Amino acid sequence: MSFDELNLIQPILRALHEEGYTTPTPIQEQAIPHVLDGRDLLGVAQTGTGKTAAFTVPILQILHQTAQVERHSHSRIRCLVLTPTRELAIQIGESFAAYGRHLQLRHTVIFGGVGQLPQTNALKRGVEVVIATPGRLLDLMNQGFIDLRHIEVFVLDEADRMLDMGFINDIKRILPKLPTRRQTLFFSATMPPAIQELANTILRPNPIKVA
Ligand code: AMP
Repeated sequence: MSFDELNLIQPILRALHEEGYTTPTPIQEQAIPHVLDGRDLLGVAQTGTGKTAAFTVPILQILHQTAQVERHSHSRIRCLVLTPTRELAIQIGESFAAYGRHLQLRHTVIFGGVGQLPQTNALKRGVEVVIATPGRLLDLMNQGFIDLRHIEVFVLDEADRMLDMGFINDIKRILPKLPTRRQTLFFSATMPPAIQELANTILRPNPIKVA
């Protein structure tokens, strides 16, 4: 199987080629066609499996193919990725930058422990994709810098680690701000009952399962 068989658009295939990727990993092969089809996804996957590209690549394609014809400087946030750590947020941001280098989509990374001004400035310039840790996201939402009403794709990354790190209440505060009509991709390395329950409340019924 090669990336050419996954119905990806040329600017993304070119970027993958430039990254030196020739073959999709199993999770990419399984997930990408379904994500492109608009399905919800439950992915049981560890870091190192290629899971980041399994969601960033099809999300970039979806956002590109349905880009608003008229480009506003105050573009709406169309995709939110929640992840537990600053390191993961940065890494996911780098994936969007790498695979999206031939597209005109903007993203920014939001995490705590640093000044918020560069982050709010990026939000004011306008981005289609926000990659965030839960605490700082809530802070900026409460200050009115982030509007999640136009989210089309929501990714919850490393759900089990999120719970271990005590982010469940933050997540429960963020979820009601998302549109109910959306595509959701849920990733966790493990699936204990508490995580399965969270997945059931976030995903539409009968998500595609990949492991
Ligand atoms: P992840 O599991 O998303 O953290 O990815 C693990 C590593 O694999 C990252 O350094 C990626 O750049 C790399 N990677 C992801 N997909 C592929 C692929 N299809 N071919 C080669 N390397 C890849």
